[in-house]
Amino acid sequence: MKKFLMVLILSPGLCLTASRAQDKNKGATVSPPVTDTAKKKPAGITDKVKSSRKFDGLFTLYQDTATGTVQLYVKKNQLGKEYIYQSFSISGPNQLYLNQSMHRATLVFKVQKAFDKLEFSRVNTRFWYDRNNPVSKTAEVDKPEAVFLVEKTVAEDADGYLINADGLFISEKLDPVKPLLLPGPNTMTIFNLGNLNPAKSRYANVRSFPNNSDIVVDLAYDNPAPFNSGTTDITDARYVRVRMQHSLIEMPQNDFRPRRDDPRVGYFLQYINDQTSISPVPYKDIIHRWHLKKKDPSAALSEPVEPIVYWIENTTPNEYRQIIVDAGLKWNEAFEKAGFKNAIQMKIMPDDADWDPADIRYNVIRWVSSAQPTYGAIGPSFVNPKTGQIIGADITIEWYSGSATPVLDELFNTTAPAGKLQYPGMDPQHEANCTLAGELKSQLLTGMTVLDASGASANEVKEMHKQFLIYLIMHEMGHTLGLNHNMKASQMLSPAEINNTEITHKIGLIGSVMDYPAINIALDRSKQGDYYTTKAGPYDLWAIEYGYTPFSEAEEAAGLKSIIARSTDPKLVFGNDGDDMRAPGKAMDPRVNVNELTSDAIGYAEDRFKIVNQTMGKLVPKYTKEGQSYAELRTRYFTLLGQRYSMMAAISRYIGGIYIDRSYPEQKSGVKPYTPVPLATQKRAMDMLHKYVFAPDAFEADAQVYAWLQPQRRGFTQNGSGDDFRITNTTLAIQADGVLSHLLHGVTLQRITNSRLYGNQYSVASMMGDLQKGIFSADIATNVNVFRQNLQTYFVRQLASMIAPQNQQFDDVSKAAALYTLKKIKTQLSTAVSTNEETKAHRANLSFIIENALEQK
Ligand SMILES: [Zn+2]
Repeated sequence: MKKFLMVLILSPGLCLTASRAQDKNKGATVSPPVTDTAKKKPAGITDKVKSSRKFDGLFTLYQDTATGTVQLYVKKNQLGKEYIYQSFSISGPNQLYLNQSMHRATLVFKVQKAFDKLEFSRVNTRFWYDRNNPVSKTAEVDKPEAVFLVEKTVAEDADGYLINADGLFISEKLDPVKPLLLPGPNTMTIFNLGNLNPAKSRYANVRSFPNNSDIVVDLAYDNPAPFNSGTTDITDARYVRVRMQHSLIEMPQNDFRPRRDDPRVGYFLQYINDQTSISPVPYKDIIHRWHLKKKDPSAALSEPVEPIVYWIENTTPNEYRQIIVDAGLKWNEAFEKAGFKNAIQMKIMPDDADWDPADIRYNVIRWVSSAQPTYGAIGPSFVNPKTGQIIGADITIEWYSGSATPVLDELFNTTAPAGKLQYPGMDPQHEANCTLAGELKSQLLTGMTVLDASGASANEVKEMHKQFLIYLIMHEMGHTLGLNHNMKASQMLSPAEINNTEITHKIGLIGSVMDYPAINIALDRSKQGDYYTTKAGPYDLWAIEYGYTPFSEAEEAAGLKSIIARSTDPKLVFGNDGDDMRAPGKAMDPRVNVNELTSDAIGYAEDRFKIVNQTMGKLVPKYTKEGQSYAELRTRYFTLLGQRYSMMAAISRYIGGIYIDRSYPEQKSGVKPYTPVPLATQKRAMDMLHKYVFAPDAFEADAQVYAWLQPQRRGFTQNGSGDDFRITNTTLAIQADGVLSHLLHGVTLQRITNSRLYGNQYSVASMMGDLQKGIFSADIATNVNVFRQNLQTYFVRQLASMIAPQNQQFDDVSKAAALYTLKKIKTQLSTAVSTNEETKAHRANLSFIIENALEQK
């Protein structure tokens, strides 16, 4: 059941970029013991590099032309200096986040000399000390050194030292490459790489420039006895070669000033603690942003000295290039609010370009079609951990169809990595992935199915498609500008406004392109407005204004304060992944959520249920096509099911929800930080669930489709237990995972009780009583259909497990309500009228479960 849902509804993930904390005062470093080599005559390096090609740049590298081996020359004036390290995967298993353009480890390192060796160590950047405070003298205390490599020098001359670089680059010292699998019953059967085989590994490319040196390596892994052969991109699980790029980057020397983070606006950030502060919140967190400087500092609007340039990779289909250019340039409106004209430039990579998209000096929007897409699109950037300055960015779009019905199979065959992978030594949030394209694609397919099934023209479908792509590009670009998600932005307009293009063409459909909204489909097709927002919303303009408006050091605090003071404007509402309620029991503000739309998400969801039910009847006639199997019909049906799931999940979160307000007292928002959702709204959500999720006829429309849900046979890939569609399992999974697992979650129930103490008027007992009515009353005097049998049994089982004495997940108020509800069900069942054998059997089973539950000690 769970497995099915994972395939059916793209498992939501997080969009994160590398975030590593930073900053410590310079000058407080402890010198290692250094041998006095000055007395000896340096041996010289000429002899050691005579058969090598030299790469001059930030670091000088020598590659032996016969063996390929690389030697690294470290100048004496580079010792003790800090450098940035950034790794990228260029080609490897998607499942392990080793596919193209993944930005992986970011760290600061330095090289020091100790006796006849060079020591490479990481610098801890998570603390800040006020130099005027004597406590800063302890800056080095209890922060153990992280030496990741010690290499003996093979030669030296007056200016520096030569070492063999294989230990640094043909190794996992800098980037751990493969995830750490925690010991457990499944460890052996999860796909992973074996051991690095240096003999089979090699250098693929070496580049060195004044500010960076890039070393591209092919790391070979051997796993003699793999228990898991991986997905179809893995040719042979025993032998997997991964292409990685190590980039050594000079610490930028410029006048970039870090900008402080604020909880009311959503930037990616570096977490830094002020160790000399007595504040209750000793945070010195700084945001990720580009270094933009006005050409003309006195002008209100000026071009930047260096614009942010994005290159569209030459692998991008021609018909999409102009759309991507236009989408990117739409961000310029936001930068104008910050005083910059033409801050964003979009260029197309020539077919005969002599540079590589992996060259970190270029920000590239890449277009790929991989065997096992896991993410859809990503928009990662990498930063100077000490300042938050974004140094480079790449966007990868993984989508490969120009037809009106794109990649249906891809949507349902996606293999997501099992949980979050752990990489030792790397930030746990390094994945830098974004599931937006997957979520959006699911929404897009619904839109296309609805339009297609109701006979819309090809042009109309094409327009929807175009809006989708613009939204996707703007969203991923927003990440590369430093913005994280704003899952509250889709609340900006009311249902009455959402299809009014006079409004939406002016300010957009939603406050920000950084949301995962439901596609906008009008129930009344003649009223259809835009499907997606295609411009930076009010929140986006404001967020860029906060992050990028230049201020003098003296004016910055007041300037930022006046910008952030506007956070109470309803168009600027913000809530990121940490606050969103996509998973059962997660977070608390139902307005911060994915796959919903408008300030009346409940009412909007009702329209969507109606659209789904209406479309069901059109599926069989529309997708019974000559010359093809029923696979497409089945896929279209799944899309609509996924839509139902999203809507019921969105509605359910209003029950027991708490509205969050993060404004500061001086903003006088008139709203308390926490306000329980009004009783009437909670009741309305419950009524909606009764009607569209629990009612005996909630899934009636689907009966028109069931007998046609046949996948296409391919070889011997039929499900071993039959390839028919598991109707009852699926329906129950949707009802249980989408709704009941949230409403009966220990955390939700405890919050309902706690919030009763500051305004919530809906008790756990009342809520469970309403569930009981919705799940039992409609057919208590008649026979019970199979959907309701499953639902009633599930509900009773959940209540029974809640009252088990050994169950510690629930507080006593919840346990009491569960017991009380079970007793009410028992009484209600005693009045039931069953005429057929099936219903009698079902009710006998319910009574049996209840009796057993009530008797347990
Ligand atoms: Zn995203």
